[in-house]
Amino acid sequence: MNRSDDRVLIVGAGPVGLCLALKLAQDGIKSTIFEQLADENFLDQVPRAGTNHPATLEMYDEIGLYKRLEPRGIIAPLFHYWDRAKGELIAEFDHAVLKGDTRFPFALQCERIKIVEEALKMAKANPLIDVRMATEFVGFVQDAAGVTAFVTNQAGEEESVRGGYIVSCEGARSVVRKELDIEFEGFTYPDRTLNIEVAYDFKRHGYTDRNYISDPEEWSNLFHWKGPPERWRVHFPTKPDEDPDALTKPEAMQARLQGFLPTGRPFDIVGCNLYTVHQRVAQRFRKGRAILAGDSAHVNSPIGGMGLNSGIHDAFNLADKLARIWRGEGDDSLLDLYERQRRHIAVQHTQAQTIRNKKLLMEKNPAVRERNHAELKRQAEDPKLARAFLLRTSLIESVREAAQIT
Ligand SMILES: Cc1cc2nc3c(=O)[nH]c(=O)nc-3n(C[C@H](O)[C@H](O)[C@H](O)COP(=O)(O)OP(=O)(O)OC[C@H]3O[C@@H](n4cnc5c(N)ncnc54)[C@H](O)[C@@H]3O)c2cc1C
Repeated sequence: MNRSDDRVLIVGAGPVGLCLALKLAQDGIKSTIFEQLADENFLDQVPRAGTNHPATLEMYDEIGLYKRLEPRGIIAPLFHYWDRAKGELIAEFDHAVLKGDTRFPFALQCERIKIVEEALKMAKANPLIDVRMATEFVGFVQDAAGVTAFVTNQAGEEESVRGGYIVSCEGARSVVRKELDIEFEGFTYPDRTLNIEVAYDFKRHGYTDRNYISDPEEWSNLFHWKGPPERWRVHFPTKPDEDPDALTKPEAMQARLQGFLPTGRPFDIVGCNLYTVHQRVAQRFRKGRAILAGDSAHVNSPIGGMGLNSGIHDAFNLADKLARIWRGEGDDSLLDLYERQRRHIAVQHTQAQTIRNKKLLMEKNPAVRERNHAELKRQAEDPKLARAFLLRTSLIESVREAAQIT
C-alpha cells in the first residue's frame, strides 16, 4: 500500500460508518469519513432506530461506545407479545436466560441519534479518523492500487480524495451501489407505517419497554424511550391509499391512540412520522475495492429491530477482514468472505425474520393466530425453548452462524 492509499474511505457518518471507523482505528488503520450533514444540523435527524440487541452491545463495548450509551438508554431485559383483540399478554420473554451466552442479557433502548452523537464525538477525538462534515460524496473511480472519491467539500469546492478501499455506509440511497450498478433486490410494502410518539406511562397498563401487539385489523409495536421527555413510540399500519396529511392530523392520531388504549383523555403527542418499508438486499456486497455495509447493502422492516443491529455487525465483520488485509494476513478474497457471511445473514436471518414478524402480527386467520400464539406461549414458558428463541432474536445466533461460513 503506498502512502496516499493508506486509508479506508467511508461514506456516511451513520452508526455503521462511525462504528467501522472506530473499529478500524483500534487496529491502527486510518480512515476518512465523508458526511453530508454539517455539525450545525447533524443532530436534527429523526431519532429512528433504537433497539440494540445483546450481540450489538458486545460490539459497542469493544470500541468503548457502550459505556457512553448505557446512561442515555433504557436497559430492557423483557419483551412482550400481546393479543390486542383479546387484550391479553400472550408471552413474556426474559433475556435473563441468555446469562451464559452474553455479558449483556438485555436489549438497550437507545435511539440512532444518540448513538451517532456519541460515536461522532469519539471519532473526532481519534487521531486516526479524519471526519469531514458538510462534505457530500458524489462519485468514485477505482484502479488496481486504490480508489479516488469525488466530494463537494465544506467550502463548496470539488475535491478528490485517495484511499485503499471505499466503504459505502451512506444508507439505503447509496451512491456507491448505484455507481456499481448493483441491483437492490426485493420489494416495498404498499402500506406505510405511522409512528406516533407519546409522553404517557404505558407501564401502568401492564406493558413492558418493548411490546409487539398482534391484531388482524391494526397490529402495532409499542416501545419505551428515555427522555426528557420520557416517550413511547407506537407504530400503526396504514392503508396504501390513505392521504399522508390526513393520517398525521392531530385529531386522527388521537382517535387512533384512543382505539388502541381508550383512556378518555387526549394523549400528549410529542412527534410523529410516516415511513415506507422496504425489504431489499444488494445482489453483491463488493465489487473490487468498493464494499457495501449497513442500509446501503440491505434494508428491512423495523419490526424486530434488526436493521441497525445487522449493519453494525457488517461493520465489525468488515473491519476484521480489512485489518487482516492490512497486516498482510490475507488478500482481497477476504472481502468475498465478508460478502458470503454477511449477505447470507441479510437474506436468511434479517429478511426472513422481519417478514415473518410482520406476518405474525397481522395474521387474519383465527386458527393460525391461535396456533401462533400458543407456540409463542410455549416457547416463552420453557427456559430451553426461550433461550433458543432469544438467541435468534438477540442476533447472537446470526453472528455465530456467519463465523462458520468459510
Ligand atoms: C422509523 C425507523 C425505526 C427503525 N427502528 C430500528 C430499530 O429499532 N432497530 C434497528 O436495528 N433498526 C431500526 N431502523 C433501521 C435503522 O435506522 C437503519 O438500519 C440504520 O440507521 C442504518 O445505518 P447506516 O449507518 O447504514 O445508514 P444511515 O443511518 O442511513 O446513515 C447514513 C449516513 O450517511 C449520510 N449520507 C447519505 N448520503 C451521503 C452522501 N452522498 N455523502 C455523504 N454522506 C451521506 C447520511 O447523512 C447519514 O448520516 C429503523 C428505521 C426507521 C426508519
